[in-house]
Amino acid sequence: MAIERTFSIIKPDATARDLTGAINATIETAGLRIVAQKRVRMTREQAETFYAVHRQRPFFGELVATMTSGPVVVQVLEGNNAIAAYRDLMGATDPAKAAPGTIRKLYAKSIGENSVHGSDAADTAVQEIAQFFSGNEIVG
Ligand code: ATP
Ligand code: MG
Repeated sequence: MAIERTFSIIKPDATARDLTGAINATIETAGLRIVAQKRVRMTREQAETFYAVHRQRPFFGELVATMTSGPVVVQVLEGNNAIAAYRDLMGATDPAKAAPGTIRKLYAKSIGENSVHGSDAADTAVQEIAQFFSGNEIVG
């Protein structure tokens, strides 16, 4: 198994409920190391760029509004197979369909307020990390 890095966001619904520590404990318990982290308020432009792949989807406006509604915690996670491992730990996009023990099953409120984001592939992980972190902010 390869050591990888993936990009994570603890979304506004989770920061509003002070779940950063609980989610980070889940991440670390799963064997992923948090090698960069900061709390930021995403601008509309940042959210639109970040989710540009969904621009034509009917939920895009709601998605951008939700992501800019409060602070987020952006992170870089490192570990074995980190991209797939974190997607497994997050659970399905819709918390009603998420497996027991996953972050979304434990904490998400709805498909739109689903507590966390994780990169879906190696190329998107690289792009997403670069949108929020410079090299010297990531310490493995
Ligand atoms: P993310 O990219 O945030 O990690 P994901 O990869 O599981 O989530 P995507 O299909 O990339 O799911 O959708 C991006 C985000 O858009 C979802 O996390 C969710 O918050 C929102 N979203 C997706 N589908 C819907 C929908 N049908 N209604 C409302 N919001 C949705
Ligand atoms: Mg996605």
